[in-house]
Amino acid sequence: MRLSAAITRYVRHAAWAAMLACAVVAAQERDPYAAPRRALVAELQAQAREDTGSLTRIDREVLAVIGRVPRHLYVPKAELADAYENRPLGIGYGQTISQPYIVALMTALAHPGPGQKILEVGTGSGYQAAVLAEFGADVHTIEIIAPLATQAAQRLRPYRNVATRTGDGYYGWKEQAPFDAIVVTAAASSIPPPLLAQLKPGGRMVIPVGSSFFTQTLLLVQKDEQGRVRTRQILPVRFVPLTGGH
Ligand code: SAH
Repeated sequence: MRLSAAITRYVRHAAWAAMLACAVVAAQERDPYAAPRRALVAELQAQAREDTGSLTRIDREVLAVIGRVPRHLYVPKAELADAYENRPLGIGYGQTISQPYIVALMTALAHPGPGQKILEVGTGSGYQAAVLAEFGADVHTIEIIAPLATQAAQRLRPYRNVATRTGDGYYGWKEQAPFDAIVVTAAASSIPPPLLAQLKPGGRMVIPVGSSFFTQTLLLVQKDEQGRVRTRQILPVRFVPLTGGH
């Protein structure tokens, strides 16, 4: 009798210990990317501190968003190991997911807020759209390469505040205009007039402009309440070209 009670107690303890061990392992493995994502945020924070020339600070809120959007869900399987490296990665079709530092900077410049209407030209992987959506903004994103657009639409499905579309973003998204902010993630040779027209007075456009072969410049284009446009150069960048029929 006593022996069987001891055995029962032993088995019960062992079961508890095993369950506890499993729970600890599960918690550690629930997000194996948590540590690399934290490291990326630390790296961006350090880089932002050094970068005194780009007018806009990458603030805590932007860093917090980068710290919670799972970038590994926006890269191809072959790139998973590098998902939290601070550099662009190939996403197929000759296109790239932008460098996280540039995503953070463009987000800070676009200054998204709850309920703001934002247009993104160049959905690509969908990562930048997800980052903008985390601010509660009403995001509209256009991609010209149909398979990329379809894939990104699937990834972005959890966000009810993101609308996706396949098409030429040079012409904007007329039915949804005007926008509080426009983020262009492919390099244009000059600022597309249809996009400028779809920017609200008081709105901001972030766009890389320049040749597709040489360095481009990231511009912050601001339209004031009277409709006057002011352009500031932020920093040299390298984006894939804005293609399409223009
Ligand atoms: N924002 C993306 C970066 C993608 S790279 C991300 O977070 O992953 C730029 C993308 O712009 C490419 O997918 C490219 O196909 C797309 N693109 C290029 N020209 C375009 C155009 N005229 N209209 C819409 N998308 C365009």
